[in-house]
Amino acid sequence: MQREPLVAKKERITRYRNHPERIVNLCFVVVLIFSTLLTWREVVVLEDAYISSQRNHLESVSSDFDRQLQFSIDKLFFFRQSMGEALQTPLSFEVLRDAVANFSHLRTLPYWQMDIDRRRTLPLKGVSDAFVERTTLLVRDDSRIKNELSAAFEVGYLLRLAARPDRLEKRVQYVSRAGFYLSTDSLNQNQDVPSLYYQCVTRPWFTLQSERDNRARGVRWFITPAAQSPSGERTITASIPVYFDHYWYGVLAMDFTLQAMKKLLLSASDGYEEGEYQLYDGRLNLIASTEPTPETIGQFDKRELAQIAHAIEGDTRGGLRLASRFVSWQRLDHFDGVVLRIHTLEEGVQGDFGSISIALALLWALFTAMLLISWLVIRRMVSNMFTLQSSLQWQAWHDPLTRLNNRGALFERATALAEECHSQDKPFSVIQLDLDHFKNINDRYGHQAGDRVLSHTAGLIASALRSTDVAGRVGGEEFCVVLPCTTAEEAAVVAERIRAQLNRKEILVKKSTTIRVSASLGVSSTQENGNFDFEQLQSIADARLYKAKEQGRNQVVSREPDKK
Ligand code: GH3
Ligand code: MG
Ligand code: MG
Repeated sequence: MQREPLVAKKERITRYRNHPERIVNLCFVVVLIFSTLLTWREVVVLEDAYISSQRNHLESVSSDFDRQLQFSIDKLFFFRQSMGEALQTPLSFEVLRDAVANFSHLRTLPYWQMDIDRRRTLPLKGVSDAFVERTTLLVRDDSRIKNELSAAFEVGYLLRLAARPDRLEKRVQYVSRAGFYLSTDSLNQNQDVPSLYYQCVTRPWFTLQSERDNRARGVRWFITPAAQSPSGERTITASIPVYFDHYWYGVLAMDFTLQAMKKLLLSASDGYEEGEYQLYDGRLNLIASTEPTPETIGQFDKRELAQIAHAIEGDTRGGLRLASRFVSWQRLDHFDGVVLRIHTLEEGVQGDFGSISIALALLWALFTAMLLISWLVIRRMVSNMFTLQSSLQWQAWHDPLTRLNNRGALFERATALAEECHSQDKPFSVIQLDLDHFKNINDRYGHQAGDRVLSHTAGLIASALRSTDVAGRVGGEEFCVVLPCTTAEEAAVVAERIRAQLNRKEILVKKSTTIRVSASLGVSSTQENGNFDFEQLQSIADARLYKAKEQGRNQVVSREPDKK
């Protein structure tokens, strides 16, 4: 069996010593990474669920809101449809004909009013021909005006039905380009007709309904600031143009107060107490909030509003995190605006998702803490075990007094080295050393002094050797040195150097007592008979050592005296 080279064996032992700690570290890091990844995955799933729950709440609130607005918008379309029908086939009631006939007397007056039956329809209020001529956008086309007046009376019946106090819309009106209007609030108000009419036809909800500005002829939403509103409060207006036979007759408009919008938002969000709902117009002006007082409304600063504006630009719904608030938003189908649901961190923590998140975070923290503690304990245990193991290993291989290899270790290593040299066809030498009259030292100076001499000798031997040489204590005061790749002559030189150095130095054995010791050495080498058996080489060296003793000690014997 091929023996492992010593250096490789040393490396294997070192790796074996270091490996388990690294494995322990690696295992713990892997477990920590996996547990963190798992927790993170859970957090992501939880976050997705939270976002979709926020969206679901918002979706049901906004669709409820939308449904209620749709009712009003549908009415607006219905009025336009009725107006179209009436323009196409006017009713030929006498009362209508008389009223319309009366118009020719009224049209030049600065302002006028036409009534049929106040309990059933709405009065028409108008301005003079001169007023119409003065104002751009307005036209009083004689071929159409009578038909239009008659149709307006007809639609008045329907508008009147819409003018109920419990209705969402505050006012519905038809404003004609031909210088007259009818409005659901003109029954109980004595307005200044020309100025009111002027106000109407100069508002964006009227002027921006021209063919050029509203090609789709759909519903458009406008906000009238409080200062410009006849009622003195901020008003939201939905308006659609009335076209018939490719001619733009006028505009049907529906006004909603902010309170009405708030009421609508509140009724839509009924049952969703958690979080605040806000209604914004298309330009992100706040219209209504479900919060009871202005102080509690969750305001956004400019930067946050810009973020929201950016988010809602390309999508109909979504969500975004703004500092500690989560804002989900949904565009409305029947209103040019968006509903926002604002959920604060506090509300989030108090909710189901919050408690699950906290439990998850605590679990992770607990698991990580336990993992860290067990890692520390196991690491310490492993390191103690290896310190113990290496110390035991050292003790098994070394002599504690001289710190050289003990007999067993020396024999094992020397045998391996001899084999290595044999296989590489290199010489191999052995030096056997025994201190002279050592017993006397013990007897004269005591055992401790003897021990001191022994460790001094060991230190001296070790310092005289190369790193590839191996020295060991093989008996009480007997040492053996193994010299791989060394010829008999070289070994004899080394032996002589050791002898001379040992004999040269005074050793302090006691306080102010120094002694000089000597040793006898025997050298053997594989060169003599090509035998690489270490035990035989050692016994030859030992025999030569005794020869040295016999010859008077303090000398090196390295070869058999010539046999004659
Ligand atoms: P010689 O020159 O013939 O070798 O004489 P010697 O006195 O050295 O011969 P011997 O081998 O009879 O003596 C060895 C002595 O070494 C005997 C023992 O008391 C002593 N000895 C052996 N081991 C130890 C040890 O560990 N410490 C000490 N202090 N003395 C030891
Ligand atoms: Mg001896
Ligand atoms: Mg001796």
